[in-house]
Amino acid sequence: MRSVPNILALALLPACAPSSGNAETAQEVRAEQAAPPASPRTVEPSADGAKLTNACKGRDGWAEAAPPAKLFGNTWYVGTCGISAILVTGTDGHVLIDGGLPEAAPLVLANIAAAGFKARDVRWILSSHEHFDHAGALAALQRATGARVAALPAAAQVLETGEADPEDPQFGGLDAFPAVRVDRHLADGEHVAVGKLSLTAHATLAHAAGSTSWTWRACDEQKQCLTVAYADSASAISAKGYRFTDHPVRVEAVRKGLDRIATLPCDLLITPHPGASDLFARLSGAAPLVDPAACRRYAATAKARFETRLSEETAPEAKEIRS
Ligand SMILES: [Zn+2]
Ligand SMILES: [Zn+2]
Repeated sequence: MRSVPNILALALLPACAPSSGNAETAQEVRAEQAAPPASPRTVEPSADGAKLTNACKGRDGWAEAAPPAKLFGNTWYVGTCGISAILVTGTDGHVLIDGGLPEAAPLVLANIAAAGFKARDVRWILSSHEHFDHAGALAALQRATGARVAALPAAAQVLETGEADPEDPQFGGLDAFPAVRVDRHLADGEHVAVGKLSLTAHATLAHAAGSTSWTWRACDEQKQCLTVAYADSASAISAKGYRFTDHPVRVEAVRKGLDRIATLPCDLLITPHPGASDLFARLSGAAPLVDPAACRRYAATAKARFETRLSEETAPEAKEIRS
């Protein structure tokens, strides 16, 4: 039996409130509006979280084994020390997002079992983006679980071949990986559901053409609910020699993708590289686990880096003009 997060104070979100449509509800809405601002939501990390943090202290390898940890409610970390894999569980079946490197597949499967779940109950496998460090294990995980895979068309194109997209700014530095059968192409904003479980796909094309962020509601045993945002990598990086300034369409896509990440519903932020959102520090209690401003800050940091990169790309020319 795994321990349950101890909730110190957790305000219910508006989406947990009854929907409007009758006089009683309207009164409730007015009462809510008149009420003082909700106290900050804080969630004390579970003992699992501390165990995961300790196990990965000084070990951030992409294929280094980590124990599983309940993050909140039905949401579990089942990845490695360096790469996230997230299991969202439901009574009618589960959803797995990302699998890590090809060699991480057995580690993820072991973590699903150690968390007390059956791999065969995973109904859907989703992904953050179509790079080998996150999608490399998906083919093996698909075989082991029998789950279907859903992806945005741009991600599906790479997943189905395992070959990197030549248009990808990182092309040349991206390993090939075992091809994945994609069963369903998603449009931006579409939901993937298993029973009452529903995850929303957000096209946030900052890092790759198929970059997808996922949001869902997680509720604990006390029926307190949070929106979890698994926001895709926000770093606009490239292989040597690539200049974003030579690709204005890509620059626009990155900016738009980061703007989307900034506005995601986001109480609990998780990222494909756990370090990108300081997940382990937050699980150890060194920083707040729940922070509704986390997606906004995550996107703002990435945007500042990207704008610096763009100005550095044009800087030599600017110097020439000045000299
Ligand atoms: Zn990547
Ligand atoms: Zn990555």
